[in-house]
Amino acid sequence: MKRLTIMRIRRCLIAVPAGFALLAAALGAFAQTSAAGAGAAQVECFSNARLIDGRGDILESATLRIRGGVILDTGAANSGCDVSHDLTGKTVIPALVNTHAHLGWEAYGNWGSQYFTDENLIDHLYRHAYYGVGTIISTGSDKEDVALRVKLEQRKGNVGGARYHLSPGLGSPGGGPNPRFTDDPDYWGVNPVADPEQGVRTVRELAARGYRIAKIWIDDRDERRGAQIKVAPDTYRAVLNEAARQDIRIVAHAMTLADHKALVAAGNRRFIHMPFDRAVDDEYLEMIRRNNVYIVPTLGMVTKREPWYVPAFRDPYFHDQVPPSVLESLNENYSPPPAERSAAEEQRSAMLADNLLKLKDQVILGTDAGAVGDFFGYADHVELALFVRMGMTPMEALVAGTSRAAAAFGLDDVGELREGKAADFVILNANPLEDINNTRLIDEVYLRGQPVDRESLSEQWTRED
Ligand SMILES: [Zn+2]
Repeated sequence: MKRLTIMRIRRCLIAVPAGFALLAAALGAFAQTSAAGAGAAQVECFSNARLIDGRGDILESATLRIRGGVILDTGAANSGCDVSHDLTGKTVIPALVNTHAHLGWEAYGNWGSQYFTDENLIDHLYRHAYYGVGTIISTGSDKEDVALRVKLEQRKGNVGGARYHLSPGLGSPGGGPNPRFTDDPDYWGVNPVADPEQGVRTVRELAARGYRIAKIWIDDRDERRGAQIKVAPDTYRAVLNEAARQDIRIVAHAMTLADHKALVAAGNRRFIHMPFDRAVDDEYLEMIRRNNVYIVPTLGMVTKREPWYVPAFRDPYFHDQVPPSVLESLNENYSPPPAERSAAEEQRSAMLADNLLKLKDQVILGTDAGAVGDFFGYADHVELALFVRMGMTPMEALVAGTSRAAAAFGLDDVGELREGKAADFVILNANPLEDINNTRLIDEVYLRGQPVDRESLSEQWTRED
């Protein structure tokens, strides 16, 4: 497994000795076109399609018109087209917006900071793009110099794939991400917030460096690191207040109902993880609805012991992104959950499903992929299906995965099929409103008005060395 990954990474390096543009070309998935940014671009029409706009509306037999990477309009008008695509029988949704993953560490089933290179990070942007994810927020685990370089190159048009957003991580001594990250000898640490003064200082520093999103781990996490030290309420209140002044959107990692309530009361409006420890109550529901709180439930993380859970290597849809030897290795290393489930486990499953349904109007998409054994892009479709399994409608799941996820982080240009938004969309061969698993039946993905060369990507990823 180790050997395999090193070989693959090396092949990648050999293939792309001279930088991003070449890498993008090698990936075959992103043509930098002067037309994409210029006003003289052609009008492209996608006609006779069912358009699901991302905000809960459907347009039947409609035309989506784009120009220069931007949506001109959606409607019945089919005029002024320089290029026409007939999408009879197909459904178009906005490209998905994933608000929580950990890019850069995973490499063909292996994992560690040594994989956090420009090449691997860019590859992960393309993996998301392949599966129809147009925007990705990587939360708290990105190596800053590599990440900022890749982000800049993407903004300059030299790197394609999903739009890459960074959110540096804040935490207390003893806090931060899980020990898999912090035990890594080259882990680069969290931005410390040990007291209110330091919290304010750290937020100001992040703002000065241009960040608009940041993550805070509230939990202690690891006894070896001083587990009694959670981020204290006066400290996270100071962080949240300063972040509001600096126009930084904070997303808080918190897993208990008590922490969620205290954080909302302190001004937090975004959560990674829903309350896992107990049933949500009316007080909490009233708080989150009144304050327009957004919640990333991360169901993929907490459903791996369910009897219906299907590990990725057994799902043909995952096979698009790794060679057979990686599937074999994942299979060999898999330990299935015990067949017998305890009454407590059954109860917890029912409680989690009940919680999700009560939170459904606050739910946004995020996978935690790259940190917990889930895989980029593929996990997004698993998560949408989990939303529906737990009782949301397919339309509610799609809103959570597009417009609401974008709104939660002020990403105003994505997540909707609407005039003026980015031309980031997915053409599906079947209607996801009939079965949410139809989001997997991708005909084409367009990002920035350009088709993603999915065939070449899959061909490269699945080839054995
Ligand atoms: Zn995470």
